[in-house]
Formats: sequence, structure tokens, C-alpha cells
Amino acid sequence: MLRMSITHDNKILGKPVANIIMQQTLAHVQKIKSQTGVTPCLATVLVGEDPASHTYIRMKLNRCEQAGITSRHIKLDDKTTTQQLVTLITELGNDPTVNGILLQHPVPSQVDERAAFEAIPVCKDVDGVTYGSFSRMWFNEPGCFPSCTPQGIMLLLQAAGVQLKGKHAVVIGRSPILGKPVAGLLLAKHATVTICHSRTEDLPSIVKLADIVVAAVGIPEFVQGDWLKSGAVVMDAGYNPGNVGDVHFESAQKVASLITPVPGGVGPMTLAILMQQTALAAAQQLGVTE
Ligand code: NAP
Repeated sequence: MLRMSITHDNKILGKPVANIIMQQTLAHVQKIKSQTGVTPCLATVLVGEDPASHTYIRMKLNRCEQAGITSRHIKLDDKTTTQQLVTLITELGNDPTVNGILLQHPVPSQVDERAAFEAIPVCKDVDGVTYGSFSRMWFNEPGCFPSCTPQGIMLLLQAAGVQLKGKHAVVIGRSPILGKPVAGLLLAKHATVTICHSRTEDLPSIVKLADIVVAAVGIPEFVQGDWLKSGAVVMDAGYNPGNVGDVHFESAQKVASLITPVPGGVGPMTLAILMQQTALAAAQQLGVTE
């Protein structure tokens, strides 16, 4: 149970929580090694030359090193076919020395990304991208890993001591990696959840009803302070060019009881959760109990 003082003024700071998760993961990895002789391994697959994807993969490999996790990085060229990618991921899925598989999004346009994701076995889907992981998460069943950023948001809410039961959470965004999964996780914690999107009418008046607002829109400084109910908790998942979130921080901070800044709020959590889930996947596969 993660519960700590991570607020400064009314900001929820992600770095201290992410650091603790990394320390806990390192200890978990050491326990797995000492009990089984096996070092957990994350396979990362990158297709093509997208510069941002290269940066994200480098960050993931660095975090693996910090967590004591072995990384196996596979780079495929931008002419790769769906069949070649599916074959590779199927081989990784069958390889007992690989515990987690991460396919970096996006893949080149000729590749059927969904087919590639679905080749990942649920037990190794540490990034929570498969139909199997999503549906188990939605049904609140064990044996799956949620998408990393939504899980990071949930752990931040827990660490900040935010009560969710019976509260109204408004999620702005319905993407498969953020809006939809975070809505499912909030629902599982007994929040009453409204999901908004680009066709939602009169968004500000819906946001006004929220005790908790999750902004996952991809539009810089989109959510305004005067949309918020006084005392709302604001989780800004946005990460836009220039280190800007999806919430207009200055106006929102005046109204919110708690708010995540960008950078330094939700952002640092994503990779820490990826490491945590890779260690958990290895423990499950190797029969290491808590
Ligand atoms: P996405 O796939 O582009 O989804 C954006 C969502 O926002 C869609 O559901 C869209 O609705 C909705 N939306 C767009 N315009 C809107 C409007 N005017 N009013 C209400 N809703 C609107 O983006 P994403 O991948 O979920 O990412 C969202 C944000 O989180 C981005 O800023 C991204 O950079 C950030 N992010 C951060 C991390 C991290 O590690 N911190 C990880 C992933 C993403 P429709 O469905 O109707 O189009």
C-alpha cells in the first residue's frame, strides 16, 4: 500500500512516488533473482525510425538498468511487414527467458498494429495493450496488467490519499491507452465515472460536476480553471510540446484542492509502472510469491 506525503502546496508530485516504485521494483527483482536465479527480462520492439520512439525506447532501457531488469531490444526496419512482426512477437511470447514484451507505438503504416499487439500473450503484456488485458481490467479480474499511465494515475491518487468511493470522476479522453483504461480503473474503485470526448456537448458544465478530473486530451492547456468545481482533484495526463499539460495550470491550481503539474506529475509514473509490472510478470511466470 503506497501512502505518503507527496504534495507540495496543492501539487501532487509524481517523482517521489515513481522513485519509491523503482526502489520497490529493484528489491522485488533481487528477490526473484535470489529465489530462482533468473533476472526478469523485458523485450522491447521498435519498428522504423520515428525519432520520438527512439527516445522513448532509450528511456525505457535506462529504467530497466536502474531496476535491475535485463532488456532485450529488437529494432526492425521501416519496411517490416505485419507477418514478420507477428512472427517475432510470437517467438518472444514463447521464449521462457522473456517475461515482458513492449511494442513501441506507433508502427509504420503498412503494419497492422492491432495484429502485432494481439500476438503478445496476456501474461507478458506489461504495457496493457491487448484485448485480453483490457477486458480483464474492465471486469476487475486478476492476471492482467493495466496500461501504464492509467495505473500511474491510480497510484498517485492513492499516494495522495484521495478518496474515490462514491465520488464523481470525469475523464476527458477515450483513447485505448489512457481515457478508457483509467475510467475502468476508477470504476473498479467505486467512483462514478463520466467519459467525455471530442463530441461531448457542453464539456465545461460536465467537468463542473467532477470531484476528480482526469485530462487525457492531447490539447495544450485545454481544461480551464473556471470549468472546475471548487476543491476538485485534477490529474493532468497531458504531455504536449514545450512540457505543457492538457490543463491550464495557473487558473486550475487556484480552484483545485490537488493538481498534478506538468512536468513532474503523472509523467514520471509511466516508466516506473512499466518496470513494476515487468517484475510482477516475471514473479508470476516463475512462481515467486509475495
Ligand atoms: P489521443 O489518442 O489523441 O486521444 C485524445 C482523446 O481526447 C480522444 O478520445 C479525443 O476524443 C479527446 N478529445 C480531443 N479533442 C477533444 C475536445 N475538444 N473535447 C473533448 N475531448 C477531446 O491521445 P492519448 O494518447 O490518450 O493522450 C492524451 C494526452 O496524454 C496527450 O497529451 C499525450 O501526450 C498524453 N500522454 C501522456 C503519457 C505519459 O506517459 N504521461 C502517456 C500517453 C499519453 P475522440 O475519441 O472523440 O477523438
